[in-house]
Amino acid sequence: MFAIDNYDFKGKRAIIRVDFNVPLDAEGKVTDDTRIRAAIPTIKKVLEKGGSVILMSHLGRPKKNNDMKFSLEQIIPAIEARLGVEVKFAGDCIGDKAAQMAAALKPGEVMLLENLRFYAEEEGKPRGLAEDATDEQKAEAKAAVKASQKEFVKRLASYADCYINDAFGTAHRRHASTAIIADFFPNDKMFGYVMENELKAIDGVMQNPQRPFCAIIGGSKVSTKITIIEKLMEKVDSIIIGGGMTYTFAAAQGGKVGNSICEPDMFPVALDILKKAEQKGIKIVTSPDALIADAFSAEANTKEAPANDIPDNWEGVDIASEGKKAFRDHILSCKTILWNGPVGVFEIDKFATGSKAVAEAIAEATEKGAYSLIGGGDSVACINKFGLADKVSYVSTGGGALLEYMEGKELPGVAAIRK
Ligand code: AMP
Repeated sequence: MFAIDNYDFKGKRAIIRVDFNVPLDAEGKVTDDTRIRAAIPTIKKVLEKGGSVILMSHLGRPKKNNDMKFSLEQIIPAIEARLGVEVKFAGDCIGDKAAQMAAALKPGEVMLLENLRFYAEEEGKPRGLAEDATDEQKAEAKAAVKASQKEFVKRLASYADCYINDAFGTAHRRHASTAIIADFFPNDKMFGYVMENELKAIDGVMQNPQRPFCAIIGGSKVSTKITIIEKLMEKVDSIIIGGGMTYTFAAAQGGKVGNSICEPDMFPVALDILKKAEQKGIKIVTSPDALIADAFSAEANTKEAPANDIPDNWEGVDIASEGKKAFRDHILSCKTILWNGPVGVFEIDKFATGSKAVAEAIAEATEKGAYSLIGGGDSVACINKFGLADKVSYVSTGGGALLEYMEGKELPGVAAIRK
């Protein structure tokens, strides 16, 4: 396996799987180019070393070819603005034009393929099956798409001399462009800088953290975070539990949670986590109080209440004064901090002050020497919203991929390069 720094790109065409799944406004303009910026160092490195670049990515979830609101052509100005090099558009992934354009590519030039997910072959899942399709029909359709996937991947691979995977966000998927294509480049495949940095940051935190190590796990539901909480209990010294999960934990212990988000079927799981944590000497920190609202909207009335004594018709939407202080004090006592999931409904400004306090405390701890890793779509949106992304040690580009990697699962996109 090569590192991008050691590979000789002179006169070579590199096909790079990037994650350009960026948010667009109604006019198709990129509203947040974080993912584009992240991929620039890898692209520049190939160009500097005398290579040319074929970029490929997915964008959104198109269900068919030519669903132009998902066309990658829209993001070309945003790439060119960051790269400072013209980006030619192939208009397709596997058509003649794409092949001719790739063949004609000269050192220093860059081209972009159309949205990979215009083709069912990218994900290898059949499309357009009737709802009442029989199992046999489903199996046939799956076999058909798998068969055409081979041709699709072969075609993509034929454009290039080497393959770089720099899309950490999709590394947990075994898709044509994220994993299968690597087999065509047994001696010429490598990670880009985004991938290298992600793996280094996460491995560092999970394998060799400075202690005390605290994980802050927020978000809405226990059911979606349980695997990661259990995995983290093997590594951390403490867990701050925030967000909607708070109320499942409170109710499981006999608290009153009003209209707060609550998963009664998760009560045994929540109690089990508390018991295991006690046995292992892991401190679980929850907020003693909650900001409660009489509606789930910016116009709602709000007040503070104990997190386990919320009146009927009110719901917990954020941590309150005591929680902010408790979380801050705890964060400042730690040397490694992992943050996944907001501690309140941060999308509504009135309910975002708890998540802001957490972000500020992490920035403060980082300034004092702690290592902080922020990951998972919503926590990244949070840290960006508060303008603190450059005050923490590392902001991961991965959501699902980050969680699966931390859970110890082998990511197909990573395994395909390493094997
Ligand atoms: P997740 O994707 O599981 O990390 O959840 C993130 C979502 O959890 C965000 O959209 C938050 O608005 C939401 N969330 C955080 N705290 C609460 C809460 N107290 N009640 C309802 N949703 C919440």
